[in-house]
Amino acid sequence: MSVSKAARNLLALVTKAKEASASSDDSEVSRCVDILATLKTDASVSPAVLMEAPEIGKTLKVLKKHANEKVAKSAVEVLSAWKALIAGDAAAAAPAPKAASEAPVKSEKPAKSPPPPSASSGGDELPPSTNDKVRDAFAKKFVETLRLARSELPDDEKASASGADVATLASRVEAEAFAKFGSDSASKEYKAKIRSLVFNLQDKKNPDLRRRVLVGDVAPEKLAHMSADELASDALRQEKDKMRDHALFESERGALNVATTDAFKCGKCGKRKCAYTQAQTRSADEPMTTFVTCMNCNNRWKFS
Ligand SMILES: [Zn+2]
Repeated sequence: MSVSKAARNLLALVTKAKEASASSDDSEVSRCVDILATLKTDASVSPAVLMEAPEIGKTLKVLKKHANEKVAKSAVEVLSAWKALIAGDAAAAAPAPKAASEAPVKSEKPAKSPPPPSASSGGDELPPSTNDKVRDAFAKKFVETLRLARSELPDDEKASASGADVATLASRVEAEAFAKFGSDSASKEYKAKIRSLVFNLQDKKNPDLRRRVLVGDVAPEKLAHMSADELASDALRQEKDKMRDHALFESERGALNVATTDAFKCGKCGKRKCAYTQAQTRSADEPMTTFVTCMNCNNRWKFS
């Protein structure tokens, strides 16, 4: 994944602050404090940006423990300001972010397919305005998580999803939450719902949720009505899938005598001596998944 301009700029600033903080020169240390002060209100901060360049957060956490009290305090302030910004409230209250922060996370598309019209330009990824600053800021958060989802897609799916209208999707998610939770952007329920959605959509351990929203598996209407448990359960579901796959591999090893075949070639050792099982792992209308184990080197793979 290539790193966006916003992430690079932020990382450069944080690195400068760290370098300055290492100096024994007082003027350098106060330069560090100055940089940290500007970072506090940097409008280009977003969960996506921080995820792109984890060094930004790591460096700030190091500065938090700096021997110089002013440096440590400033770093703490930056981190808590960003936390609030990301939670949404501060973003809604802050002045409109500069155009630079709207630069989309660049997704690597296969070189041969021409990019779909204006899919990667930033301007058309702004959700339509609701004339409510809070709501617009929240919709932008959803745009960020959907861009993140797009950047995480495997290469062969990127091309087909690069035209996905993340701005419209994002505003539909926001509108659903708004309609369901009081039609009042100041209501606690609405804000809590949005925070929960943003949190789950940007959760590192739950990439499947944002992907499913992006590709249309989970409609915005459905997403807005999912409980916290349902939102979080994708990560758990994947754990269960893994365990079930493991169980299938194991059960197929138990039946080695009957299921050995030369139909599959092991990608690791090249031998054609494999055991396999087939199973319906998803819904009945999807193809069977075949689980293969190489009898020679124990290499395992599956396909459907
Ligand atoms: Zn093998």
